[in-house]
Amino acid sequence: MPEGDSIVRLARRLRPALGEEPLRVSAPHPRGRLAGVGALDGRRLERIDTHGKHLLLRFEGELVLHSHIAMTGRWGTFRPESVGERTLRAAWIVLEGGPKVVAEYRGPTLRVLTALQARGDLRLRSLGPDALAPDFDPGHVLRRIRRGAQDRALADVLLDQRLIAGPGLIYASEGPAAARLHPLELVGTLSDQCLLDVIAATRDLMLEAVESGRQPKTVQSRKGKPCLRCGSAIEGAAVGDHARRAYWCPACQPRLRA
Ligand SMILES: [Zn+2]
Repeated sequence: MPEGDSIVRLARRLRPALGEEPLRVSAPHPRGRLAGVGALDGRRLERIDTHGKHLLLRFEGELVLHSHIAMTGRWGTFRPESVGERTLRAAWIVLEGGPKVVAEYRGPTLRVLTALQARGDLRLRSLGPDALAPDFDPGHVLRRIRRGAQDRALADVLLDQRLIAGPGLIYASEGPAAARLHPLELVGTLSDQCLLDVIAATRDLMLEAVESGRQPKTVQSRKGKPCLRCGSAIEGAAVGDHARRAYWCPACQPRLRA
């Protein structure tokens, strides 16, 4: 699944592609018509915001296109002179009139909201602080964790978008690796400073990936392979209720009470 850094990069790609002129907006696929994307036709894009893995395209007239592509959706940009009808036929939304033709396909969430609805939307409001926001405050995430997640593993907490929005599987392993903490450590056993360090390390890795386009891979999906730092075999195990996998180096990231 694209993580917060990929969504910021996507927003940076879409903004210039859509330009400043009023856009022709259509919905070749019935799912897009169901989402009400026709209401955006003829409007200019004002800006694109991101919050964690959510993309919010804000149009003139106080309308917002909310997209969450998760693992199944994708956005494409195409040259207007060469994009064929077949390419766009399956799109849930097509936006034309900017330097590129922009289309979105599939995914769990594509819907049009008024700005007022977006502000009051329960799903958006339940999100934790955006890890990539300029005014991000690790202390805010720490307080959320201390309020209700003390018995959960560090990687599980980093994956919980209600506690911190943006990190996914990569950063739930790479953040703890950068801070030399075991991803299965229960957060209740970690000091405030340890937690602040791993939150900051996770955010720094994501910020680096926004700029470089390269996500870290020191432990993620490297089970059995040698640690890049010490050569020990990387380990992996399921974490949390959804049994997603976390990875770590047993020598560089020992359990605190082992
Ligand atoms: Zn190691």
